[in-house]
Formats: sequence, C-alpha cells, structure tokens
Amino acid sequence: MDQNRSKELLARAAKVIPGGVNSPVRAFGAAHVAPPFIASAVGPYMDDVDGNRYVDYIGSWGPMLLGQAYPPVIEAVREAATRGTSFGAPTLVEIELAEQLVARVPSLEMVRMVNSGTEATMSAVRVARGVTGRDKFIKFVGCYHGHGDAFLIEAGSGLATFGEPSSPGVPAATAQDTLTAPYNDLDAVRELFKLNPGQIAAIIVEPVAGNMGCILPREGYLEGLREICTAEGALLIFDEVMTGFRVGPQCAQGRFGITPDLTTLGKVIGGGLPVGAYGGRKDLMEQVSPAGPIYQAGTLSGNPLAMAAGLAMLEGLFADPVVFERIERTALQIGEGLAAAAARHGIDVTVQQIGSMGCMYFIDRAVSNFEDAAAADADRFYRFHASMLERGIYLAPSPFEAFFVGAAHGPAEVEKTLAAADATFAGL
Ligand code: PMP
Repeated sequence: MDQNRSKELLARAAKVIPGGVNSPVRAFGAAHVAPPFIASAVGPYMDDVDGNRYVDYIGSWGPMLLGQAYPPVIEAVREAATRGTSFGAPTLVEIELAEQLVARVPSLEMVRMVNSGTEATMSAVRVARGVTGRDKFIKFVGCYHGHGDAFLIEAGSGLATFGEPSSPGVPAATAQDTLTAPYNDLDAVRELFKLNPGQIAAIIVEPVAGNMGCILPREGYLEGLREICTAEGALLIFDEVMTGFRVGPQCAQGRFGITPDLTTLGKVIGGGLPVGAYGGRKDLMEQVSPAGPIYQAGTLSGNPLAMAAGLAMLEGLFADPVVFERIERTALQIGEGLAAAAARHGIDVTVQQIGSMGCMYFIDRAVSNFEDAAAADADRFYRFHASMLERGIYLAPSPFEAFFVGAAHGPAEVEKTLAAADATFAGL
C-alpha cells in the first residue's frame, strides 16, 4: 500500500498542528501504519490521497449511519448554504430538528443544540449540578464523555480515594468532584453514594460503552442505576453521543426501556456536521438560560447548515421503516463472520455488538468493563489493524474503539471485509 503522500502530509501537518491532527486518535498512535489522509468519501468507501480505497468502518467515528456523502444530506447542506451559513439568530430548522429529536428519543421533552458531544456532556452535568445543588457526579472507568475537565479523571486506588486528572491542565480540585466506578458494577455505585451522602448530582453513563470497544450493560445494570438515582435524588444522564440512533431507532434508552433524566447526543444527529445536543425532562431543561438561571450558550449553536444536515439524516433514516434492522443484520454478519474467521485460524477473539456498532477483542472471554478490555492482546490487534488497512479495510486504529456499520455497507463490502479478515488471521 502506497502511503507516500499521506506520510508527506503528516510531516507537513505536524509543523503547524500538534501531532499533525486535530483530534488525537487520528494520528494512529500505536498503529503500525501511517494515518491515511482522506481525499474524499462516498457510501461505504473512503479514498485517500495516495489513491487507496477503503471500506470505511469508522464513519467519522459514528455519524455516517447512511454512508458517506449521503446525497440528501449533501443537498440539504448545499441548499442551506445558499441562504447563509450562520445568523446567530433563531431559525425554523432548529425547531424542526428539536421536534424530531423530542419525537424520537423517549426521554426528551426539551433539547438544546450545541456544537459537539463534549459541549453536550459538559452542559448536561452543569444542569444536573444546577438543579440538585450538588457538586459531585459519578462516571465509569473506560467511558468517554468528551474532553471537558471534569471527565478527564482516572480512578484513584479505591472508591474512597480521590481520582486523578488524566491530563495535565486538569485541576486537582476538579478531580475531587468526579467519582469513578467500574462499569457494570452496581455495588460500587451504591458504595459511592454511601461515602458521599447527599453530595452526588448525577451519574453519567454510556448505556452501551463504545469507548472501550463495545460493552453491553449487564442485565439489570441500567435499571439499577435508574433506581439508585431516583432513591438518592440524583439525576441519571445517558450519554448517547455514540449510541444515539446507532443502537436503535429510539437510541439505547428505547432499546433497554430505561428513562434517563438527561440525555446527550451528537454524531448521527448532525449528519457529519459539528453538532451535539442535550435534553431531557422539561422541568430540568427549563432551568437552562434564558428560560432559567443555568447558563449555557453558543455563537454557532443550532447552525443552519448543521441543522439541515441533521434533519436530512433523520428524515432519511426514518423514511425507511426497516433500515435499522437491515443495518443491524449487516453488522451481525460482519461480527459473526469475524468471529468465525478467527476461529478457523485458532485465534481467540470475542465479538460484542448491538445495533450498528461492535468490537472484536483479542481475548478469550466476555468483556464487561475496562479492566477486561485492557486485558485483550493489543499487539495482535495492531497487527490485525495494519493488515486489514493494507487490504482496504479501514478500522479504528485502537483496540478500545468500536466499528460502525451503516446502510451503505452491502454484501460486496461484507464479503471483501471477511475475505481480508480471513487472510489477515492466517498471517497473525
Ligand atoms: N460522549 C461519547 C459517548 C463519545 O463517544 C464522544 C466522542 N467520541 C463524546 C462524548 C465527545 O463528543 P465530541 O468528540 O463530539 O466532543
């Protein structure tokens, strides 16, 4: 695989952009290949600047549920742009997208648009703190909620110890208000409430953990979080930035039948433009400025191009009554095919998936929390990743990332992917 031009561009980029990229994972960190610089993408394919074509299983890290350059989104953006790119004033399309979200996402009664998932989670936690008058919140080890200070906290040595900032620049004081617990462990959550009585504003959770591969909530786990929050007067925040419309037409909350107090969204709802959203119960969202006292704002929030893209995306999705099932079937074919190919070559893998997201771990057992995910064979993963890329299959360059399947992936792409996997496993 020729990567000359991509390598040249990475070197050039690194002179003016930290690490040559605008988001760390794009640098392909520990991967054994250089990050392809992308020239264009269409449907299930991305083309790089060296003329390599890949079947795309990242889909811009989630948004491209209907494939790259989905024509109605492109048309909506083009059409919106002719009327101006930003007004900093209210527009009709913001209402239309908000109405769609309120209609589709079971717990949403009101929603505020922002520009990224990070903004959505930061704002949701602020609302939780504002309405409860409490400062602390719980997050789970291995869940990612964007790069806000309060989320970049690693677990301390035990539940009773303070967490540590996971990045320089995050104040130690911030770490004192972020409590961490292992995913899928309700006892740890109960213990944190016992240790911090009346002080916890919220639990924030990825209802399917997609930032340590693809970890499903254990039977009763989300129900348990719901019950604990209700009993303790804390709010339950579902971070559905990744799972929103990926896990099903009503997001993870609809699929699992759990009603969070607040929900964060991003990715799919922006059709590939910079969008995030947070929302939930009306009595909570009416506390947000200017309806209420909790401040949150954004110069470009509700941007008309982004709203038009998101609306076209949702309209496209819901115009096809079987699209979610169809994509899930394709995703299952891929997941099961990968597991079967690995088994044929005597390689231990565990594939976990739901809806249109999944992950293959190089491990011989189920993965239910970060510790499990971290125990998978990373070296093997990186060799797998490089070989797949060379065979034209573009997977996330980290063992902690999910693969994303979309409506554009058809039988030809599945076949190509599984053939590449078979050849790759043979050489691992
Ligand atoms: N929450 C979750 C669950 C995410 O997966 C991400 C991004 N991968 C974020 C929040 C942050 O979103 P953004 O990158 O748009 O800030």
